[in-house]
Amino acid sequence: MSKTIFGKIAAKEIPAKLVYEDDRVVAFRDINPQAPVHILIIPREEIARVSDTKPAHEALLGHLVWVASEVARREGVESTGYRLVINNGPDAGESVPHLHVHLLAGRALGWPPG
Ligand code: AMP
Repeated sequence: MSKTIFGKIAAKEIPAKLVYEDDRVVAFRDINPQAPVHILIIPREEIARVSDTKPAHEALLGHLVWVASEVARREGVESTGYRLVINNGPDAGESVPHLHVHLLAGRALGWPPG
């Protein structure tokens, strides 16, 4: 599978504002932020979307959410609150076919989402 733009960011082939990385995931600031804090957490593994995951990905999926909580702590938004979003497929507005968790914070977020 060829690399998406996010795969290239994880491999440091193109630049991004990284805020966290470990052996399994990378987190970086969204280029078009929708909130004062808008960070994307991605697996290094090229997985297109949640609906393509397999039982073997269970721990990685949990790690992505844990890293999101750790990044939220580091960004100082733990007590004010934050939203984690995964857009899966066309109706959800998925635009980059590399699994990513959006961390949104820093303002009151409307519900239901658009
Ligand atoms: P989604 O619509 O859920 O697929 O989200 C894709 C997100 O990736 C959008 O919020 C974009 O602003 C963001 N994005 C696209 N290209 C880049 C990039 N090179 N660096 C950082 N964020 C990006």
